[in-house]
Amino acid sequence: MKISELLSSKGPSISFEVFPPKRSDPALFAEEEHAMAKTKAVISEIAALKPSFISVTYGAAGGTTGANTCEIARHVLGCGVPALAHLTCIGSSRDKIADELKSFREAGIENILCLRGDYPPGTDASMRAGDFRHALDLVKVLRPSTFCLGGACYPERHPECEHIADDIEHLKAKVDAGLDFLTTQMFFDNSVYYNYLSRLRSNGIMVPVVAGIMPVTNGKQISRICKLSGTTLPPRFRAIVDRFGEDPAAMMSAGVAYATEQIVDLFANGVNHVHVYTMNKPDLSRMIMRNLESIVAR
Ligand code: FAD
Repeated sequence: MKISELLSSKGPSISFEVFPPKRSDPALFAEEEHAMAKTKAVISEIAALKPSFISVTYGAAGGTTGANTCEIARHVLGCGVPALAHLTCIGSSRDKIADELKSFREAGIENILCLRGDYPPGTDASMRAGDFRHALDLVKVLRPSTFCLGGACYPERHPECEHIADDIEHLKAKVDAGLDFLTTQMFFDNSVYYNYLSRLRSNGIMVPVVAGIMPVTNGKQISRICKLSGTTLPPRFRAIVDRFGEDPAAMMSAGVAYATEQIVDLFANGVNHVHVYTMNKPDLSRMIMRNLESIVAR
């Protein structure tokens, strides 16, 4: 099923994100098979919660998880849940992207999140290689196809772009090239999302903008992740991390409670769909779904 159809249905609905196992040395085939089987078992548990779709991340192009994205997305579909396969283009070639599309099509995947990807460590825009520069270039290659296409957006601007107005201008070009929907980077203050959405609308970006919510379960990691992604930690959330960050069980409860409150507020304010970055954690996905039991349409 196409995500664009899901997003136009009544809601409210929840989707989850997972990541495939890394590809290891071909000599370590048995280990790779083991990791794949373990990941599939975890994803079956998450799929049993009946999210509206599951998205599957893609490693940096030429990186370590590419082909596994297709296999995991195929597994998601086998569990009876629509799949969204991520695809990054930086460092890739048109031929490699054509091969990926062929595999996605053969696996029955109908939805692709078109991404540039991060530059490999030690490189930057001036040192890039490959046929693609921005996610926009990937959208241009993919749009003639019938895939439902999504893209990423950044309510607190992408860290490489100095001014949010420029970032929104770049986003508009990407959407106009043929995106059907957008998914946001995580945010911890809903007013950031509401303000951003209103700016996108006034700039003529009218596609659905799925809100991305990250339930924080690791107090130690979150400050570093926020610094890298340019996401602000509001004082109310910082106090939670300061108080419970050293106690994993307490941090898990507090992180789920905070994320649940954000999601309920988004639904209450007319947002129809929320994407939750629970990654490969069935317990966390279960806690979120249980909290929203009578709210989420399944
Ligand atoms: P782009 O849309 O190309 O934007 C990147 C930067 O380039 C921005 O600063 C933008 O303003 C600027 N820009 C765009 N067009 C122009 C132009 N014409 N001229 C000048 N500047 C321009 N990474 C992975 O490796 N795998 C994943 O599976 C993955 N999933 C993600 C899912 C979501 C929902 C999000 C929000 C991010 C995800 N990422 C993933 C991270 C993403 O790859 C990085 O944030 C990356 O740095 C930017 O990717 P993009 O597709 O947003 O790039």
